[in-house]
Amino acid sequence: MNDQRLQGRVAVITGASSGIGEATARLLAAQGMQVVVAARRSDRIEALAAELGDNALAVTADVADIEQVTGLFDRVRERFGGVDLLFNNAGVGISDTFAESAPADWKAQIDSNLMGVLHCTHAAIPLMQGREGAMISTVSSVGGRHGVAGWAVYCATKFAVNGFHEALRKELGEQGIRVSLIQPGAVWTEWGDKVSEDAMRSYRESLDALHSEDVAQALLYSFAQPARVLVNEIVVRPVRQLLP
Ligand code: NAP
Repeated sequence: MNDQRLQGRVAVITGASSGIGEATARLLAAQGMQVVVAARRSDRIEALAAELGDNALAVTADVADIEQVTGLFDRVRERFGGVDLLFNNAGVGISDTFAESAPADWKAQIDSNLMGVLHCTHAAIPLMQGREGAMISTVSSVGGRHGVAGWAVYCATKFAVNGFHEALRKELGEQGIRVSLIQPGAVWTEWGDKVSEDAMRSYRESLDALHSEDVAQALLYSFAQPARVLVNEIVVRPVRQLLP
């Protein structure tokens, strides 16, 4: 797919330093879109932006920090004047049984996965006004549809994102701003703290887990629809992933 309608449109991608965000930046840039790649690891996003060329801008930002998010969208306004696509992808998952889990880990997940989405969405909406086909797309998870033992707080953040999106869609629909969710199953990325690398690898191997590019394709599919079309939710899983 290489759609003329995508040429020059502006995407802000959070969590672009690895995994799904990085793959999405590459895919959208290959479609001729201008991509703003944001994350905390500056070295990663600077290298990605350098590779993608003039249509990419790297901005170091922690989405949990409202001042850094304000700075990110100030840069976007100065450079591009607006935003067509906000891809709220940044997130962390920290595994533990809830009884043994630490409040600092709850906070880290709530701050990145929920507060980060709220901060970025709030800052982006004014920059989306009047832009045909503008879209906010957020990465939730199959863990935002079903509880998963060992991931209770992570699931709570993703369920919260779903509820936020369902209400936001009703606030922004009349303005023509599309609000969309992507709920992936297991993906081969750096995601998953406090799980041994071996356990994560064998889990992903057993499912023939998705690649980041597979999720990036789902995002592109939803964004590339005509402006009247809202792809409300996409659940994308490995065929072999039967649970959750
Ligand atoms: P990943 O490779 O670990 O990427 C996560 C990205 O989020 C990184 O670029 C990280 O960058 C960024 N990030 C995390 N906290 C941030 C913060 N506070 N501020 C800015 N950036 C932050 O994992 P991934 O799988 O691609 O994750 C992307 C999204 O997919 C997440 O929302 C995750 O919950 C979701 N998801 C993943 C899976 C899976 O199996 N992999 C399944 C369902 C949903 P820095 O560390 O450089 O900031």
